[in-house]
Amino acid sequence: MKLVVPFVRQVEFGPNDALVDHLRDALPELDIVVHADVSPADLATARVAIVDGPSADQLLTMANLELVQSTWAGVEAIIPAVPSGVHIARMIDPQLGWTMAEAVLAWTLYLHRDMPRYAHQQRAHQWVEHVPVSADSRRIGVLGLGALGALAATTLRDQRFDVAGWSRSPKAIDGVLCLDGDAGIGQLLERCDIVINLLPHTEATAGLLDAEAFARMPAGASLINFGRGQTVVDDDLLGALDMHLEHAVLDVFTIEPLPDEHPFWNHPSVTVLPHISGPTSTDTAAVIAAANVRQFLADGTLPTAAIVDRTRGY
Ligand code: NAP
Repeated sequence: MKLVVPFVRQVEFGPNDALVDHLRDALPELDIVVHADVSPADLATARVAIVDGPSADQLLTMANLELVQSTWAGVEAIIPAVPSGVHIARMIDPQLGWTMAEAVLAWTLYLHRDMPRYAHQQRAHQWVEHVPVSADSRRIGVLGLGALGALAATTLRDQRFDVAGWSRSPKAIDGVLCLDGDAGIGQLLERCDIVINLLPHTEATAGLLDAEAFARMPAGASLINFGRGQTVVDDDLLGALDMHLEHAVLDVFTIEPLPDEHPFWNHPSVTVLPHISGPTSTDTAAVIAAANVRQFLADGTLPTAAIVDRTRGY
């Protein structure tokens, strides 16, 4: 009999049929079953679960788990839902990296080439030219130089932008000013016209972009948040946009979907996106998840880069 692997997803988002089909194709030796259809007995004995999405409460029903494989790069919602002995593998998918790097480039160019300003001018029937800034004079800062941030930084560098990045541990990336630690983030914020957040949501990053951080950014600077909403203090961002910041492109929020009454929706200097900068690529993610699960069931190991370190929180 095949081992049952529950597929877990927040109920209101449905099962993600395409991903389930790809997982079944990639793991024919296992029985991938949507959580709602798994019998109580199979839930009690499941050794591996595959989780697709922000909430993992359903994991609490599985007492025998050894591995949770996430189809997302961000795993902050999974960590509190599984006991410390259970391994968590996050998604590292080159396709996700390219998709995110493309989004970073697209929305950087949106800000770099003044598109919000020209859209506003069109609505006001204003024919006004603004002198463009050359890419090599545009200082961009990427917070987080992991699987996604490093590729975003080099993609921007290759477009001739002046790029700096910030991470917890020191990094060396050709053509990118790599900063780390408390002094590093200050330096990055003070030098950059566009700051892009690609940090995970952890205790250390929660509320990192607050009034004090925004005050360090130059007048006319902008923010792109593609990491997690919790890194930004919403009221502080609104205050900074009213004072000296130019624009914010926000793809992630503390509460998603963004509540109807939230001031971001109608703010003239905010672009709201519905968490679309780096969607899971169902076919490639299924193959990567399958390889991790197969390796784990064979010898109890996982690719090092995919292992979530609970003490770091990512
Ligand atoms: P990752 O490979 O784990 O990289 C995380 C980076 O953040 C690393 O460079 C890490 O530093 C740095 N970092 C973490 N905590 C830090 C701290 N306290 N101070 C300074 N740097 C810190 O993660 P990833 O795969 O690049 O993904 C990043 C995040 O993007 C995910 O966690 C998720 O929240 C978000 N995401 C969003 C979308 C979307 O659609 N909007 C899609 C996918 C992912 P070290 O290198 O020193 O460890």
